[in-house]
Amino acid sequence: MEQGLGQRAEAVRLNGVRRTYGSGAAAVTALDGVSVGFPVGSFTAVMGPSGSGKSTLLQCAAGLDRPTGGTVAIGGTELAGLSENRLTELRRDRIGFVFQSFNLLPSLTATQNVELPLRLAKRPIDRHVVRDALASVGLADRGGHRPAELSGGQQQRVAIARAMVTAPTVLFADEPTGALDTAGTRGVLALLRSLVDEHERTIVMVTHDPVAAAVADRVLFLADGRVAGELHTPTADSVVARMTHLEAASC
Ligand code: ADP
Ligand code: MG
Repeated sequence: MEQGLGQRAEAVRLNGVRRTYGSGAAAVTALDGVSVGFPVGSFTAVMGPSGSGKSTLLQCAAGLDRPTGGTVAIGGTELAGLSENRLTELRRDRIGFVFQSFNLLPSLTATQNVELPLRLAKRPIDRHVVRDALASVGLADRGGHRPAELSGGQQQRVAIARAMVTAPTVLFADEPTGALDTAGTRGVLALLRSLVDEHERTIVMVTHDPVAAAVADRVLFLADGRVAGELHTPTADSVVARMTHLEAASC
């Protein structure tokens, strides 16, 4: 895909994305025409009040939910034209997703959890790739541990290793530090930042925490299913100031 000079390719592009749940008087518009691009190698935080559409945005961008209108493209491939099978394949090969609740399989070791996406994709399991994935999240010596034997922060880092083992085009994270203590949060944020800085990964992270958002390159603010603003090279203070402003405006 040719890009203009000085313009970075977009890992993800949403144009006029709408998502309405239900119909008639009970209809809820979760996303109301969102257009935004996520450049390759960028780290974006998504913030906004509860119910503003953050999770719906991630689900639609990741092909886990189909928009009611508008288009989503991952690495230049439009999702709307894909069959269910092709969409499943694209999700498996090009999308990483982590949740607040880790979602590791409790009976499997860290290594087995990280291998899972490769097994599901029927790709060969390269022990070095799996070991490197665990090493890259600082858990080279914990491969034989089950989730219950790891701290919350370590479990989330295993979940990130699992999401990244297929080298996806983009990693989506929906409140990945929401269930973690300060130390766990710090470790996960440092890891996400290093994936972008050292490996040119693309990350889109929903968070409520201004300190977490300040680790990103850009903050995208949502309100009532619409983009309500952007902040580049954010600081915790500038994020708090913008959120206070947005909340005051929506009262
Ligand atoms: P956020 O993550 O910002 O809290 P969500 O994207 O979860 O917001 O939700 C946006 C709006 O869409 C809310 O009003 C929510 O109640 C509604 N919504 C989300 N998912 C569904 C669903 N599956 N069915 C009906 N309404 C939904
Ligand atoms: Mg949410």
